[in-house]
Amino acid sequence: MGEFELIARFFDRPVRRSPLGVGDDCALLQPAAGMQLAVSTDLLVEGRHFLSTVDPRRLGHKALAVNLSDLAACGAQPLAFTLAIALPRVDEAWLAAFAQGMFALADAHGCELVGGDTTRGPLAIDITVFGEVPAGQALLRSGARAGDELWVSGTLGDARLALEAFRGKVSLPQEVFEAARRRLELPQPRVALGCALRGIASSAIDISDGLAGDLGHVLRRSGVGASVALAQAPQLLAAARAGLKLDARLVEDLVFAGGDDYELAFTAPASRRDAVEAAAQRAATPVTRIGSIEAAPGLRLLDGAGHVASRDFGGFDHFGDSPALSAG
Ligand code: ADP
Ligand code: MG
Repeated sequence: MGEFELIARFFDRPVRRSPLGVGDDCALLQPAAGMQLAVSTDLLVEGRHFLSTVDPRRLGHKALAVNLSDLAACGAQPLAFTLAIALPRVDEAWLAAFAQGMFALADAHGCELVGGDTTRGPLAIDITVFGEVPAGQALLRSGARAGDELWVSGTLGDARLALEAFRGKVSLPQEVFEAARRRLELPQPRVALGCALRGIASSAIDISDGLAGDLGHVLRRSGVGASVALAQAPQLLAAARAGLKLDARLVEDLVFAGGDDYELAFTAPASRRDAVEAAAQRAATPVTRIGSIEAAPGLRLLDGAGHVASRDFGGFDHFGDSPALSAG
């Protein structure tokens, strides 16, 4: 099968919202009046961002999910995406499954494939997403202010727990492993929540590299600091909440430095707490208030007595040479 047959067969689908999709030199997009385009790209490389054994359907899902997660973090509604893919060989069953996983998520978010590039090479997938957001309303990393409250969506650390199980570093009961594995391989981008938080959240980021690290980006760009209680970790890890007993330190590592979570961390003025909870309800997405934003720079993790714990997640490498296989 040649390149063009491959594209026609697996990646050329009629577009509905975009004026022009696959097949010409450019695709054409038409954002609605008063909207700004939000654009983000993420490159996934085999061995670095995903295991070679991953189910292609799940890989198709995840390659798009990590990109939609960036739109979610900006409060942007997905419009369209492009797919650049390097394939070592033409494996039709693999391509069909990959496309199925990718398009299922795309359809769920009304996001159309409008173009891309296809070449032979080591397996790598680069998706660029385009979303729209009312002009001036995008959620940014730079808007956190002292006095704001700090929130996260969903649960954290379970994706990394699955990775540790794959690496043989922890052993998990089968059903715990399957649930954690779904978190690793089938992340659900928090698009509805991001959009619902427009005009409410003062800043937002999606958690791809671990809460502590990603929160650090928000704090630096906003010129503020934050305090978070370490003791919340077991409540934020789904496996721990479900009763799995794990070393307390490992739970903290997973929650604060796990990676591959694709949840949102966001801030909002304390006066908007009810609005945050209403937005979360509208988006059918659980949120947890985990801390507060303060003027003094830096992230302070507080121990049970409310003292600053000297905790450095740089040492979080029970996990082999490379950091998380985070894709976003
Ligand atoms: P060009 O030579 O202009 O770069 P190509 O020959 O690479 O165009 O691609 C032909 C058409 O197929 C273009 O419209 C391009 O956007 C689209 N395309 C190529 N690869 C993909 C892909 N993996 N997914 C979706 N569209 C693709
Ligand atoms: Mg061309």
